[in-house]
Amino acid sequence: PDQIFGPARPNSAGIDLSDPLVREPLMERLAKLEERTHEARPTERNRGEHPIRRITSPHDDRIEVGVAHEATDEAIDAALTAAAKAQPAWDALGGEERARRLDKAADLFEEHREVFFSLCMREAGKTLPDAILEVREAVDFLRYYASEARAKFTHAVPLPGPTGELNELRLHGRGVWTCISPWNFPLAIFTGPVAAALAAGNAVMAKPAEQTPLIADYAIWLMHEAGIPRDIVQLTPGDGRVGAALTSHPLTAGVAFTGSTDTARLIARSLAERTDGPIVPLIAETGGQNAMIVDSSALPEQVTRDVVASSFQSAGQRCSALRVLYIQEDVADEMIRMIAGAMEAQTIGDPRDLRTDVGPVIDAAARQSLRRHLDWLDHHAKCIVRRDLPEGLAHGYFVPPSMYEIEHLEQLTQENFGPILHVIRWKAGDLEKVIDAINRTGYGLTLGLQSRIENNRRIVERLARVGNLYINRNQIGAVVESQPFGGEGLSGTGPKAGGPHYVTRFATERVTCVDT
Ligand code: GLU
Repeated sequence: PDQIFGPARPNSAGIDLSDPLVREPLMERLAKLEERTHEARPTERNRGEHPIRRITSPHDDRIEVGVAHEATDEAIDAALTAAAKAQPAWDALGGEERARRLDKAADLFEEHREVFFSLCMREAGKTLPDAILEVREAVDFLRYYASEARAKFTHAVPLPGPTGELNELRLHGRGVWTCISPWNFPLAIFTGPVAAALAAGNAVMAKPAEQTPLIADYAIWLMHEAGIPRDIVQLTPGDGRVGAALTSHPLTAGVAFTGSTDTARLIARSLAERTDGPIVPLIAETGGQNAMIVDSSALPEQVTRDVVASSFQSAGQRCSALRVLYIQEDVADEMIRMIAGAMEAQTIGDPRDLRTDVGPVIDAAARQSLRRHLDWLDHHAKCIVRRDLPEGLAHGYFVPPSMYEIEHLEQLTQENFGPILHVIRWKAGDLEKVIDAINRTGYGLTLGLQSRIENNRRIVERLARVGNLYINRNQIGAVVESQPFGGEGLSGTGPKAGGPHYVTRFATERVTCVDT
């Protein structure tokens, strides 16, 4: 088909931080917002005990951002019961009216975006540019899934009636979906699955990551303000205990999960073992062991810029992030030297400071697991860059960016979710072997290729089993509708977030046949 230029629906606008007339007043307002503390509560009034979790800033654990009241088992049961009761009326509202309210939620998200920026920085350790992108993505998900509700959930699809009968197909919500989201996109990936499930006519139990319930609470509040009923979209904050109580509950009719591959397997197992309630579909978006392949025709400056963005933006805490850089040996020394130079120039620090390139990782457990991997690398790999931590960051969870050269990909037995880049050299003529090694990891999320050779591009397109292939650019920051995002194999079940098959997977199909 001809290429489609420009979205049918404009994406959420950004902010020009290079303009001091925009930037300075914004920074002043954000400084004021730091005084605000937040609370996250289950939408359904908690019964029984109220476990409370203090939420502190990843860049400085002395700063308390707020508290979360975790949902008790009684609250979860009451929430699902109320949601299941309310869902048929939400489904009956139809795609057009649900879309109107999702669009209204998008408008409110934009109107209140500075509160979200502040929470992205204080609760999740994001830099301001990352926070801005995050809010835009959340808004884009709301508007795109609203457009999907209008297009696919308003009218019946007429089907052929070869013997004169009238056949029609309609899409309906399945019931109550449980949406479990990660801390690395505490607003965008929290909002995306929730909005899709709502668009399809479902009620939703929204379970944010235990590290980031405050921003989720604010998002749910705005959805209620937009006219989505309280029983239809409910927050259930808490840890894995809450997730397990939701997914094992007989009223849960579907589960959308983004997080680790191990947890996705646990959820799949618990759903398979359920003996009451419906057979439940699972949509899982999990990890990756993402590579970039650089051949000798690539442009060194462009490779440097794209590698640094792909590996270290968001402190490497994107499931799309580059972990393994394959460089053709003829150009490897020069490329490695340039990337190392760029890494030495990165600023590590407080995410609220606009000079910061690399902020903290999310918590002590994440830092510990990355440190363990760095210790292993110190014994089994060649260190190229290991930055020291600047002074004054002792109260935060910082892991400085580092780059190590390894022999082969099998040495990496797990995803390392942070700012650590592994480099492997490959020989001319071995491109197919390189792709085979990448495929054999079993993951299939993102892959980068830097090449000006048409034939290499064709080989990669033909052989690589990945969901998102990026050629001559960085491999992060998929845009809703333009680059639907998600992987295969160990990286997820599909369908792709922000793509044309996503919302319908939250629905059930019903056909009516009338003999005329
Ligand atoms: N969609 C994000 C990107 O393209 C990554 C999502 C994730 O980390 O889960 O960078």
